[in-house]
Amino acid sequence: MEDKQITIIGGGITGLATAYIAAKSGKKVRVLEASKTFGGLLNTFEIGGNRLEYYYHHFFTHDAEINWLIKELGIAEKFFFQKMTMGVFRKGKIYDFNSPIDLFKFSPIKFFDKFKFGLSSLFLGKVANWEKYENIPAIDWFYKYAGKTSTDALWKPMHDVKFGPYANQIPLAWMVGRMKQRLGSRNGGDEQLGYLHGSLKTLLDALLKALIELGVELINESPVKELNIENNQLSGVVTTQSVYEGGKFVFTIPTLYLKDMVKDKAPSLFAELDAIEYFGAVCTILEMDKPLSEIYWLNIADEGFPFGGVIEQTNFIPKEKYNGKNIAYLSRYFAHNEPIAKMSNDEIEKLMLAKLGDIYPNYSREQIKKVHIFKTMTAATVCDLNFSKKVPNCKTEIKNMFLASMPHIYPDERSTNNSIRVAAETCKVLGIDSSFVPEGQSMSGKLGF
Ligand SMILES: Cc1cc2nc3c(=O)[nH]c(=O)nc-3n(C[C@H](O)[C@H](O)[C@H](O)COP(=O)(O)OP(=O)(O)OC[C@H]3O[C@@H](n4cnc5c(N)ncnc54)[C@H](O)[C@@H]3O)c2cc1C
Repeated sequence: MEDKQITIIGGGITGLATAYIAAKSGKKVRVLEASKTFGGLLNTFEIGGNRLEYYYHHFFTHDAEINWLIKELGIAEKFFFQKMTMGVFRKGKIYDFNSPIDLFKFSPIKFFDKFKFGLSSLFLGKVANWEKYENIPAIDWFYKYAGKTSTDALWKPMHDVKFGPYANQIPLAWMVGRMKQRLGSRNGGDEQLGYLHGSLKTLLDALLKALIELGVELINESPVKELNIENNQLSGVVTTQSVYEGGKFVFTIPTLYLKDMVKDKAPSLFAELDAIEYFGAVCTILEMDKPLSEIYWLNIADEGFPFGGVIEQTNFIPKEKYNGKNIAYLSRYFAHNEPIAKMSNDEIEKLMLAKLGDIYPNYSREQIKKVHIFKTMTAATVCDLNFSKKVPNCKTEIKNMFLASMPHIYPDERSTNNSIRVAAETCKVLGIDSSFVPEGQSMSGKLGF
C-alpha cells in the first residue's frame, strides 16, 4: 500500500489534475495545500451574485486536455465558446484589432510593415519550430522580420510592459508557443474563447467532488515547510500541522517556494531551482455602473502605463450575470525587482486609476463603485533565452521526489490546459497510466519528462 501512496504538494490545477489521474488509476492519493481553498491561481470571489476569477481566465478551442476534463466531470453543458473582441491602445487612440481589415486600418504601422507583421505572425503561429529559436530574443527577430513600425508600435511596448527588465531576453521560442495558442483559437477570422457558466469555480467544485468520490484525501491549510531527506531519499514532508510519510511525493508548488527546502540536503537541485525566476502579476478589478468601452481585451501598446491590458469581463459575459455591474480587470505582470512588487493595494489602485482617463475620454472616477486587488508573486516563470536548459527533471536526483510545475509548461504559454498535460506526463513518469488523457496541440510536458 505504501508504494501506492502519492502525496501531492500544492492544490492548484496541476496538483488536482495529477491527483485525479493517479486516483483514477487506483493510486492512494493525498493533496497538501497551503491555503484554505484549493485551486491556486484559478480561485474566484463573489461579485454581483456570481463568481469571478482573481485573474481573468478563459480557454482556447484547441485545448484538448481541459475539454476532456470538463467532459469527465460531467459539466460539459456549462462550458461554452464565443467570439471575443480585441483592441489596441496606441498614442492616445483605441483601435479595433480583430481582423486583417483592422490591421490595415491601424495607422501606427506603415503599409508594407503590415504585410510583414501579418506574415511573421502567421509564420510563428503556424510554421515555426520553437527549438530553432531558443537563443534569439523575440524583440530582435521582430525588428528584423515583422517591420520596424509594427515592432515600435506593438511588439516593443507590449514586451516592455509585460516583461519589464526581461523584455530583451524573451526567446522567440516562447512567442512561437504564444502565437500558436492565439492563432489556433480562431474560427475563420474571429478568435473564440471558452468560459464556464458560474466561473472556474464550476470546474473546481466538480473536480474536488470527483476527487473526494475517488477517495483522495484533500488536506488544506497545510503548507509544507520541511522535507525529510536522508541518504538522497525523501521519506516524508512536514507541514505546520503534521508529518506525511511514505510513497512518492509530487511537488506542484512554484519552484521558488520549494528551493529553500532542499538547499542544505540537495545542493545541486537547489542550484537548478534557484536559476528559475518568476513574474508576479496584479489584477485590479473594477466594479462600475457603466462600461469603459465595448472591447473585451485591450492591449496597451503605449509607454508610461502601469498596466498592460484592460480586460472588460462584461464585454464577454453579459453584465446581467453580475446583477448589472460592469466589470473590468486592469492587468499587470511584474518582475520581482520592479517597484510595483512592493506597493500596497492603495498605492496600486491610485497608480492605475490615475491613467484610465488617458485611455477613455468619457471615464470618470465616479463610475467605479468598488475596487478589488489580487496579487501573486508566481504568475509565470521567466522563460528567458535557452530556458529549456533550466527546465528541471520531473524525476529528481532525490528518490521518491518528483516535480511538476510551471517550468514544465515551456515553450508553451502557461495555462490550465497545459497544467493538465503536465499532470498527465508526470503520471507517466510515476508509472501511472494516463493514456486516457487526450493529447491536443499543447507543447507542454515535453521537457523534463
Ligand atoms: C493574470 C493571469 C492570467 C491567466 N490567464 C489564464 C487564462 O486565460 N487561461 C488559462 O488557462 N490560464 C491562465 N492563467 C494561468 C493559470 O492560472 C495557471 O497556469 C495555472 O493555474 C497554474 O496552476 P498550478 O497548479 O501549476 O499553480 P498554482 O495555481 O500556483 O498552484 C500552486 C498551489 O500550491 C500551493 N502552495 C504553495 N506553496 C505551498 C506549500 N509550501 N505547501 C503546500 N501548498 C503550497 C499554492 O497555495 C497553490 O494553491 C493565468 C494566470 C494569471 C496569473
